[in-house]
Amino acid sequence: MQTPAAAGEARAPLYAPASLANAALTYACHGWRVLPVHTIHDSRCTCGHVDCPHPGKHPILHNGLTGASSDEGVVADWWRRWSLARIGLAVPDGWLVIDVDDFDAFADLAARGLHLPDTLTAATSRGQHWYYRVRRRVAPKVAILPHVDLRGPGSYVIAPPSPGYRWLTVPAHEVPFLELD
Ligand SMILES: [Zn+2]
Repeated sequence: MQTPAAAGEARAPLYAPASLANAALTYACHGWRVLPVHTIHDSRCTCGHVDCPHPGKHPILHNGLTGASSDEGVVADWWRRWSLARIGLAVPDGWLVIDVDDFDAFADLAARGLHLPDTLTAATSRGQHWYYRVRRRVAPKVAILPHVDLRGPGSYVIAPPSPGYRWLTVPAHEVPFLELD
C-alpha cells in the first residue's frame, strides 16, 4: 500500500473518475496542482487560432503553469467554465514523469540498459507517461533520448481522462522511487 504522504506532499493521483471535472478535483484533493489545458474540438485547438503551433497542448491560463492550483473551489470553477479542458498536472517536488512518445523509444531505452521499474503508467496519444517518486529534484529536460522527455518540477503533464490519455495501471498503484545516479 501507498505510504501516507507527509502534509503538503503530493500523493499518487489515485483513482481518477471518468469525468474531467471530477478527475481534476480528485487530483487536487491529492495535493496535485492542476491547470486547464486547451484541447482539440471540431478538429481545431480550443484557443481558436487556426494556425495554433501546439494544438490541444497549451495552457488555457495566461500565466500557464504558474497559475496551477490545488484549491478545490478554483479547480471546480475552471472545469465549470471549460468543461472540455484537458487536465494538466504540475509535476510536484519529489516526482518525475518520464514521457516516452514513441514506442520504438522503449526498445532504445532497453538497448541502453535502462530498465524502468513498473510504476504508475498512463497511455498517451503516442506513447506512455511513467510516474516515479525521486529523492532529489530532477529538472525538466526535453529529448534526453530520442522521443524521451523528463517532466520534473517546473513542467506539467496531461493526465487521464483527458482525451487520448488513460491509466494503464490502477492509479492507486504503489509508486516506487526511481534511484538516480
Ligand atoms: Zn491552441
